[in-house]
Amino acid sequence: MRKKIVAGNWKMNTTVPEGVELAKAVVELSGKADESVQLIVAAPFTHLCPLAEVLKGTRVALSAENCADKEKGAYTGEVSAAMLASAGCGYTILGHSERRQYYGETDAKLVEKTRLALANGLKVILCVGENLEEREAGKHFDVVEAQIKNVLFNFSAEELKEIVIAYEPVWAIGTGKTATAEQAQEIHAFIRKTVAAKFGAQAAEDTSILYGGSCKPSNAAELFACPDIDGGLIGGAALKAEDFIAIACSY
Ligand code: PEP
Repeated sequence: MRKKIVAGNWKMNTTVPEGVELAKAVVELSGKADESVQLIVAAPFTHLCPLAEVLKGTRVALSAENCADKEKGAYTGEVSAAMLASAGCGYTILGHSERRQYYGETDAKLVEKTRLALANGLKVILCVGENLEEREAGKHFDVVEAQIKNVLFNFSAEELKEIVIAYEPVWAIGTGKTATAEQAQEIHAFIRKTVAAKFGAQAAEDTSILYGGSCKPSNAAELFACPDIDGGLIGGAALKAEDFIAIACSY
């Protein structure tokens, strides 16, 4: 049975003390969400050690927002998967569209990052999604299929168990424009079919596929009701504990 997951992506927001307060508030409200929902917060590198302390023994897991594509060594400014694991992370987001767009994240780099994250015991939230131009040209299925094939298809069915897919249409991220439940369901089903073609129907059934893109308390229930949507990757609305938990309560 695949997991329902609601993960907050804080991006480059909050100072360390603000982040600690936000995490404490999330923990305090977390009991409102159904037990079956895995809660995750993804925070900047600077926040991870103090947040690991706050989240220890709670139902809220800790995630990084990225990791290096190299194991260790002379890579100034990078943070390795081993470092993230030692800081208390259980997950890392990889391939967020902001990293693809602003920091030259390629599918080839994502293969390395995913390999290192898994080797260090981290679960991966792998982001895919098309931009507006691609959606308007009707290329969204091709774009997402290529992203899945270029990255995910390099791993085994066993490794797939440690990977969560997040479908995030770039045109919906931080724009207030959400994909309709029909648009989201259609492409989530397509992603599951693509995963099934390589890894088998059962492996695809067991893979959590999250929706991300202006998901908020007012639209989460409709999205989460779709059969192939297994939760959300939440940006802006994750910066308010009440909204983040209200989204998790949409199940
Ligand atoms: C995200 O960046 O992962 C995201 C979904 O952002 P937002 O919810 O703000 O659109």
